[in-house]
Amino acid sequence: MLMPNRSLLKVIVLGDSGVGKTSLMNQYVYKKFSQQYKATIGADFVTKELQIDDKLVTLQIWDTAGQERFHSLGIAFYRGADCCILVYDVNVPKSFETLQNWHEEFLKQADPTDPDTFPFVLIGNKLDVDGGSSRVVSEKTARDWCALKGNIPYFETSAKEDYNVDAAFLCIAETALANE
Ligand code: GDP
Ligand code: MG
Repeated sequence: MLMPNRSLLKVIVLGDSGVGKTSLMNQYVYKKFSQQYKATIGADFVTKELQIDDKLVTLQIWDTAGQERFHSLGIAFYRGADCCILVYDVNVPKSFETLQNWHEEFLKQADPTDPDTFPFVLIGNKLDVDGGSSRVVSEKTARDWCALKGNIPYFETSAKEDYNVDAAFLCIAETALANE
């Protein structure tokens, strides 16, 4: 019998409140962007199907509903994650500095078998703001941090203009699949 080659991959999105985590997910899954700030989305996760080579992959993307402000994401949020997306805003230095905390928090809470090889992907979002003139964290600074953390793939995106969002999530899916 021909068995379908399927994978369900759990991806979680972490980063400071306001960096654009929900917007990136909405842009990727629904091709929608909203200026309105909505802290809550209601659902625990959304799914997106994609094909990678001969594999059907279902990405289960877990977003926070504002609890990231209190670092109070429950254990169910972290459990069984196959990839962790870290997001910061290239215009907000603080959101880059706290990546370190999110990275540590993830490893502590999710407690993966091999923390040194667990797949992370970093996204620097809101590249479009003021045509790039209000940017404060340079690409080099971000890439240096990624190198320190064991060569984390890095993407710069605009959820608003749908720039590089698909590419980032494709890498996320491939990275998670490789580690499955
Ligand atoms: P979250 O708290 O990390 O989920 O952030 P949200 O997705 O709710 O976004 C926070 C605010 O930033 C909202 O007003 C969004 O419309 C806005 N936003 C998100 N991504 C972008 C982007 O790429 N460019 C711009 N200009 N605004 C964005
Ligand atoms: Mg959100």
